[in-house]
Amino acid sequence: MLAEEGSSHGCGSGIPHGSGTSSAREMLEVRPGLYLGGAAAVAEPHYLKEAGISAVLTVDSEPGFKEGAGFEGLRSLFVPALDKPETDLLSHLDRCVAFISQARSEGRAVLVHCHAGISRSVAIVTAFLMKTDHLTFEKAYENLQTIKPEAKMNEGFEYQLKLYQAMGYEVDTSSAIYKQYRLQKVTEKYPELQNLPQELFAVDPTTISQGLKDEVLYKCRKCRRSLFRSSSILDHNEGSRPIAFAHKRMTPSFMLATGNQAQCTSYFIEPVQWMESTLLGVMDGQLLCPKCSAKLGSFNWYGEQCSCGRWITPAFQIHKNRVDEMKMLPVLGSQTRKL
Ligand SMILES: [Zn+2]
Ligand SMILES: [Zn+2]
Repeated sequence: MLAEEGSSHGCGSGIPHGSGTSSAREMLEVRPGLYLGGAAAVAEPHYLKEAGISAVLTVDSEPGFKEGAGFEGLRSLFVPALDKPETDLLSHLDRCVAFISQARSEGRAVLVHCHAGISRSVAIVTAFLMKTDHLTFEKAYENLQTIKPEAKMNEGFEYQLKLYQAMGYEVDTSSAIYKQYRLQKVTEKYPELQNLPQELFAVDPTTISQGLKDEVLYKCRKCRRSLFRSSSILDHNEGSRPIAFAHKRMTPSFMLATGNQAQCTSYFIEPVQWMESTLLGVMDGQLLCPKCSAKLGSFNWYGEQCSCGRWITPAFQIHKNRVDEMKMLPVLGSQTRKL
C-alpha cells in the first residue's frame, strides 16, 4: 500500500494531502508542526521532507531509520521502549518533551513515532500536550483521541502519565511519587529480589554527619539508634477500606498526598541501607532495629494495607509508636532535639 507513491487512494481516509493528514505516510499533524505516526512515516526520507519535518523522536524497540541515507540534517532522539504496561516511559518523559519543545522553538517540524502510532508515540505526545497546554491527563488524551480516534495507549502508560501530572509535569526523582513508582518496578525487574540497585536504598542516617535543614530524624524508641529521615517517608492519601482494597494495584494512592494522615498508625518509607540484608531475596517479613532488634514494623514487596485502608505497594512500614521524632540541628550535625 505504501508503495503506491503519489496516490492517496487505497489508504482509507480520503482526506486530501495538506489538510492535516498525510495518510499514505501514516502521519497526522496534531498541532502545528507536531506530527504523530508509525514506522511507515520514516520508511522513506522524502516523506519527511514533503511534510517539512526535520526532527524525529523514535520511541520503539529499535531506531526507526539509519543515520545518513537521505536523512542528513535530521535531528533525532531514540528512546528504546516496548509497548508493554511495565515499560518505564516516565523516566524518559522530561527529555522527550524537551526534545519536542526545543525543535519547535527552532521552527522545526517534529515527528513522534513508534511502530504502529497507537500507544507509545501517543503517550509521549499526550505528555507534551499536558505540559505545554497545561491540560490534565484526561483532557490531553481526549483531545488527541478526537484527532486520532484509534489512539490507545496501554494502561501502564496511562498510569505513568497520571504520576507525571501529580509531579507537576516534571519528573522529580526525589519525590515520594517517583520513589514509590521506582519501588513498584523492582519486583518486575528483579523478580529474585537480588542485586538491587543501590539508589533504591536511602543512606543510613547514622552515616550522615550533617543534618539537612528542616529534616526530622526518626530514632528507635528503645535504643535511640537513628533509623530514617523525614525525606524517606512516602506519603499517601488516607484510604477508605473497601475502595482502597478494590483498586490496590492501579490507584496512584500516593498522588496528591494531603499530609493529613491521622488514621495512619505507620510510616511507609523507602528502604534504608540497614534493611538491605533483610530485604534481599525475601518477599515479606519483619523489620527489626539493626541495633537492639526491637520489632519496628514489616515489609512486603507485594504491598500491605495501612491502618487507614490504603494499599501501599511495595510496603516498608514502621509503626509510629516504635520511633521518636527528633529535629536535626543543621549546624551541629548529628545532635538532635526531641520534638
Ligand atoms: Zn494510611
Ligand atoms: Zn533499637
